Amino acid sequence: MNDTIVAISTAFQEGAISIIRLSGDDAIEIANRLFSRNLLDVPSHTIHYGMIQDNDQPVDEVLISVFRAPKTYTKEDVVEINCHGGIYITRKVLSLCVGAGARVARPGEFTERAFLNGRIDLTQAEAVLDLIQAENTQGASKALSSMKGSVTRLIHPLCEDLLQIIAHIEVNIDYPEYEDVEQLSQEVVLPQAKEWYRRIEKIIKQAENSYQIKKGINTVILGKPNVGKSSLLNALLEEDKAIVTDIAGTTRDLVEGVVHCKNVTLNLIDTAGIHDTVDIVEQIGIERSLKALDKAELILVVLDASKELDDEDKKLLALTENTNRILVYNKNDLNKPEEGISISALNQEIDILIDEINKRYESQIHDSNEVTLNNERQIGLAIAARQSMKQAIDALENKVELDLVTIDLQDAYTSLKEILGEVSRDDLLDALFSNFCLGK
Ligand code: GDP
Repeated sequence: MNDTIVAISTAFQEGAISIIRLSGDDAIEIANRLFSRNLLDVPSHTIHYGMIQDNDQPVDEVLISVFRAPKTYTKEDVVEINCHGGIYITRKVLSLCVGAGARVARPGEFTERAFLNGRIDLTQAEAVLDLIQAENTQGASKALSSMKGSVTRLIHPLCEDLLQIIAHIEVNIDYPEYEDVEQLSQEVVLPQAKEWYRRIEKIIKQAENSYQIKKGINTVILGKPNVGKSSLLNALLEEDKAIVTDIAGTTRDLVEGVVHCKNVTLNLIDTAGIHDTVDIVEQIGIERSLKALDKAELILVVLDASKELDDEDKKLLALTENTNRILVYNKNDLNKPEEGISISALNQEIDILIDEINKRYESQIHDSNEVTLNNERQIGLAIAARQSMKQAIDALENKVELDLVTIDLQDAYTSLKEILGEVSRDDLLDALFSNFCLGK
């Protein structure tokens, strides 16, 4: 029932070695047909030196690793052919495998088989992809821990506890005559449901916090012309991406840049100075910066510490009143204000601002080091579970019969199980595994 798949598992370019991987019932048989030596009876987890042959014609000198099911990546028989890493040779070996009966694998199909054969759950399969795509130590170690099942261990106990409640209610309904089993009431189930809700709430919050730190904080630098926005951006970027001049209103376009401020990544958007102007080009920039404000998660409102606040400053203060903003007094080399966050963008003295930003995201940074759900699919399902539980709690508070309440409890349970891929739909799997590179 498991046809044998084959793929080039290393990057398809010239290199010292390429690995062609086979998985499936006939993997060893197929490799054996191409190999100069007999592989049929070799023990599992052994490596063999010999030649790949095309009808007795030598093709390449290779090492073949044989892994017998079930202790393999896919839980199927797996063979890896280490050949020389030329593009021609690699492709030739692949096509010989196909000629001998293997089918070319779809992207991610090896990992998909590992999942379908029950070696890993869906969060672990996703972690394989995260690990391949990781760009730094933090990302890689998080992916590795998920691959080893940390997300599973986070979600599994919640599923178990929920299942206990559901099962108990169902026993009550199906076997009302059982005297040994406590007859549950809304009053008994309600605190359990609330406790469960609190736990999933915490997991979601941590995941969202962690996700925000991972993707970076969308940050807008706002201020009237000449207060030093571009200078601040440059100080942050430590490079000249925006043009700094002392002619009012020169920053006409949005300038984007990503900066790492200690533990926080800012996705920076510099804006045209927002102020009343007749300059039409500048006006366009202003409209765009107002749009950028909508997307901002953090606003750095830059004020000139060397001057009194004027009406334009006050307008900006009013505009950003209820946002997550930091008032930044720039040019403190000219006049040092008594309090607040004061910097000198010109002299690159901005540490106090960076500290303030890190302080503001302290709890998110903390959460990002914890085990959390790793992507939007997982978080979305957790939110669906929380929603179902909320409905269950409302129903319990309104004394709705328990046999109706279990419908919501079941929904919550199903959403959680889906995080682990235990009730996953085919279309979801297709979408997920097609993100993989070939041969993984
Ligand atoms: P923007 O229009 O808000 O982007 O302001 P710029 O960054 O272009 O700066 C306007 C002028 O203020 C330039 O001449 C800068 O050199 C100057 N400037 C910026 N930051 C500072 C600062 O911290 N101290 C002093 N003394 N001048 C500054």
